[in-house]
Amino acid sequence: MIINMREGASTGEIEHVIERVKEAGYKAHVTRGEERTIVAAVGSGGRRHELQALAAAAGVADVVEIAQPYKLVSKQVKPSRTVVQVGDVKIGGGEFVVMAGPCSVESREQLFATAENVKALGAKLLRGGAYKPRTSPYEFQGLGLEALLILREARERFALPVVTEVMSTDDVDLICEHADMLQVGARNMQNFALLRRLALANKPILLKRGASASVKEWLLAAEYLLSGGNEQVVLCERGIRTFETETRNTLDLASLALARELSHLPVIADPSHGTGRRSLIPAMSRAAAAIGADGLLIEVHPCPERALSDGAQSLDFEGFRGVMQSLSEPLFAGRFQ
Ligand code: PEP
Ligand code: MN
Repeated sequence: MIINMREGASTGEIEHVIERVKEAGYKAHVTRGEERTIVAAVGSGGRRHELQALAAAAGVADVVEIAQPYKLVSKQVKPSRTVVQVGDVKIGGGEFVVMAGPCSVESREQLFATAENVKALGAKLLRGGAYKPRTSPYEFQGLGLEALLILREARERFALPVVTEVMSTDDVDLICEHADMLQVGARNMQNFALLRRLALANKPILLKRGASASVKEWLLAAEYLLSGGNEQVVLCERGIRTFETETRNTLDLASLALARELSHLPVIADPSHGTGRRSLIPAMSRAAAAIGADGLLIEVHPCPERALSDGAQSLDFEGFRGVMQSLSEPLFAGRFQ
């Protein structure tokens, strides 16, 4: 339930409502907007009739049901868009933010060359995998701690905040020491123990959509993070499984737009995993920008044919330059008279 306070409700009136929400057996989540304050009563097992009665309390405009199963991620509870801060980069604040880097950190030379080039071409964050979720146990699993140390060095040297994936609750503290943002990969989107642990971490989270997850499940996964205390969450549409076999996944841009409609959290697109084909990345990047995405995650490798993972979908530096250039061109110039 949401208790919408009146415009100009006093601090005392708001405090009173918060107290009453707690007495009724719920957690009170307060959003202070420019004009009005919203108090969301979240949790289960409380006494709903006591919340409904708050319609009669001083300073209350109305008491309404939260329409969706997810609460804190919904626009109803927080109508203004969330801005997620990663180092000195703001995601969701209007600027289109590109994060780029190799699927896996393979060596110092490989990561440094990539960092230098993607930064020069306009990337704002460096992303590279240290712990890789691979479909087969016989494939390259990532360099682990060695990769974290290389990422950390690259961050200092190129002044780029770094993003890397966390797969296990055991690794959270270690990765938090070295990275600026933690990625939850598609395979772990519903790893609830991991989400609960990350809710307590003092780092922003990049939450990828599971390959078979509905938008509702994706937003409920984000709800685990917010309800546990971490509101710095960026959603990432990375393609879903469909009957199509010519592309690795189907980049679901309609769901990206829907997630931005339903939630105040920033949403970015990953056209690399979303297509599996480097030739499609420029077009899908432009499409994502056109529908309002807050940014992109793109895999870039100095020599994709030698990549230890995801070479077929990785761009080389020239390819990445092409994408960045096409993003700066007017989208529909010359198409309509
Ligand atoms: C990745 O980002 O390299 C990755 C493994 O992505 P996903 O979790 O989307 O498959
Ligand atoms: Mn990858």
